[in-house]
Amino acid sequence: KLAATDAEIAELRAKYADIDAGSIKTFSDFPFSQKTKRALTESKYTVPTEVQRQSIGPALQGKDVLGAAITGSGKTLAFLLPVLEHLYMQKWSRTDGVGAIIISPTRELAYQIFETLKKVGKHHDFSAGLIIGGKNLKFERTRMDQCNILICTPGRLLQHMDENPLFNTTTMEMLVLDEADRCLDMGFEKCLNSILENFPPERQTLLFSATQTNSLADLARLNLKEPVYVGYEQAS
Ligand code: ADP
Ligand code: MG
Repeated sequence: KLAATDAEIAELRAKYADIDAGSIKTFSDFPFSQKTKRALTESKYTVPTEVQRQSIGPALQGKDVLGAAITGSGKTLAFLLPVLEHLYMQKWSRTDGVGAIIISPTRELAYQIFETLKKVGKHHDFSAGLIIGGKNLKFERTRMDQCNILICTPGRLLQHMDENPLFNTTTMEMLVLDEADRCLDMGFEKCLNSILENFPPERQTLLFSATQTNSLADLARLNLKEPVYVGYEQAS
């Protein structure tokens, strides 16, 4: 059963180094898994938006990305597709624990990300959980260890980290901060720093926001490694 997967993974991996945003016209130009391609077609996503075209390549290559693009520009797929592909390429399975954590400033936005993930991830076999409070804490707690992808609000995630010694983030390989500028505006900086302390430093980080915020790059403990800037006027 794994032979086909191994061949596909090797084939995709061989194409990663040559991804060039300039020659991407449709989603089929990205070296995505068949599972992802099928879901994109079924969801009628054909042409990537600018932020997707520019950030997906570096993200697939394992680079940290700092992306700025206005509301409605398609930032959700710009991080969800690389998250799905990363876990797929690692042959992540349900028993491998939490592989990716996505942090969003509000419950509503977290819920929207979850809905989009259900669409584009529907042919994959990963488990995903929404950790946004309002629900039974105990219910979230028993479920979250079995989730490969967690979508969380900062306060609720920190609460679990503080109160649940069994919650294991050492397996985590990707961190996404969505609407990162808003997370900071809303006074979550201390909270984010506490969260980041719990994450392994060797991880990939994708940061997206509607505004160009250089203060994000300074966030203590973010451990960004020569991030690729997308949508920033002065590339650094
Ligand atoms: P942002 O997070 O930047 O505000 P979203 O990710 O919420 O934007 O996307 C805004 C809308 O655009 C959503 O309805 C989404 O389904 C749609 N969308 C995103 N990417 C594409 C695409 N490549 N083609 C068509 N529609 C898209
Ligand atoms: Mg968004």
